[in-house]
Amino acid sequence: MVSAIVIGIVIGALGRLVLPSRPSRQVVERLRLGGADPDRRGRARGCRAQQGQGAPPTGRRVREACRSTRGRRARSHRRSDPTRSSESDRWIDRKVFAAAAQQGIYGLQIGEEYGGAAEKDYRYRMVVCEEIARVHALSFGLTVALQDDLVLHYLLDLTNDAQKRRWLPGFACGETIGALAMTEPGTGSDLRGIRTSARPDGEDWILNGQKTFISSGMMADLVIVAARTDPDAGSRGFSLLVVERDMPGFTRGRKLDKIGLPAQDTAELYFEDVRVPADNVVGLPGTGLQQLMSHLPRERLGVTATAIATSRAIFDLTRDYCFDRRAFGKPIGDFQHIRFELAEMATEIDVAEAYVDRSVRAYSAGELTPVDAAKGKWFVSELQKRVVDRCLQLHGGYGYMKEYPVGRHTSTQGSRRSTAAPPRS
Ligand SMILES: Cc1cc2nc3c(=O)[nH]c(=O)nc-3n(C[C@H](O)[C@H](O)[C@H](O)COP(=O)(O)OP(=O)(O)OC[C@H]3O[C@@H](n4cnc5c(N)ncnc54)[C@H](O)[C@@H]3O)c2cc1C
Repeated sequence: MVSAIVIGIVIGALGRLVLPSRPSRQVVERLRLGGADPDRRGRARGCRAQQGQGAPPTGRRVREACRSTRGRRARSHRRSDPTRSSESDRWIDRKVFAAAAQQGIYGLQIGEEYGGAAEKDYRYRMVVCEEIARVHALSFGLTVALQDDLVLHYLLDLTNDAQKRRWLPGFACGETIGALAMTEPGTGSDLRGIRTSARPDGEDWILNGQKTFISSGMMADLVIVAARTDPDAGSRGFSLLVVERDMPGFTRGRKLDKIGLPAQDTAELYFEDVRVPADNVVGLPGTGLQQLMSHLPRERLGVTATAIATSRAIFDLTRDYCFDRRAFGKPIGDFQHIRFELAEMATEIDVAEAYVDRSVRAYSAGELTPVDAAKGKWFVSELQKRVVDRCLQLHGGYGYMKEYPVGRHTSTQGSRRSTAAPPRS
């Protein structure tokens, strides 16, 4: 570990020599997350504590935990993806999530009483995003984001104590995977067009309908389903129902064949007379659409966080590549045009990062608005596309080889913009 840190410092110093100097981009330092928080000292950490890992999280500890979970950051631009086997198998081994939970980098905000780290400060999520981006674990990163920024965010906000006791410990141990099902074949952006419906039957609801494009739909143990529960109540006629793995009438269709993120499963789901107990409704019945709207800032910030972390990671490996690759007797990074390309990208990423940092702080303070979150999501997703495209060109022919992470990013980069947080109005 010591040698890895030393190598990291050396690489960082070289990076500052070859480009105009810039401050360290480590979010730990950037967001002042480095020191141990005295308030957290000695607190037990449920699932992690049971497994002898109850030390308090600091930015550095979370970062190191990411590295030991995903493998140390590989320095070579060729060897930097430890999830290649997942991508080629088109599946993520569920054990990875249990390992991530044990290390305390998954389900960060789950309360200690349910076995989580009770860490609501979004800067810790940023550390995890950056570390996952560095190893180009694209499908794993998106699945973790889906849990932390989407599914868990709903469950933590909307569930009562009994529901929390039922569902959260499984997430805290990385044994439960969730999904959020809004989109249907006939409607995506305009969720008022949802046709999946649930009618009351005694204490239960009877759910019928179909969903599509559902991330982790094949793997999910529980699915939060947006359904119309009162056809006469307009936008106040939707509710969120939790469907669990073995409920009769719940079936999964095919795993959809996407242009990117092959290991991250995306599925069709079917509900035929599924009996959902009243205890599985999250939030008040009739408020489903409002809940989907009110959770937009976090979902959008999640997309932004992944996009900025990915932009930085792709830029860093491309800068290294430019000073490794030689042409006409010198590193291509010595050519003025390539230095301009690198300097422009470094500037754009630094500027965007300042906006993201502000958003992260605003979110942690409960002040991030849906509009400001949307600005970040749009701008940083577009930046990511530009960075990936320019970095691909700087790799020459090698950029088109799947062996090189930059090539794999081209089929993935647009996806998060279209996958999460549709307009909903
Ligand atoms: C990889 C992947 C994962 C996904 N994961 C999930 C998931 O986990 N859960 C889930 O519920 N959904 C998921 N989705 C679905 C995603 O949320 C929808 O695809 C998205 O909301 C868009 O809906 P749509 O595909 O029906 O497009 P449409 O709504 O048909 O839109 C088509 C085009 O019209 C544009 N458009 C729509 N309305 C307007 C308007 N008012 N003004 C201007 N332009 C407009 C859209 O921007 C888009 O360009 C996922 C999608 C993908 C690709």
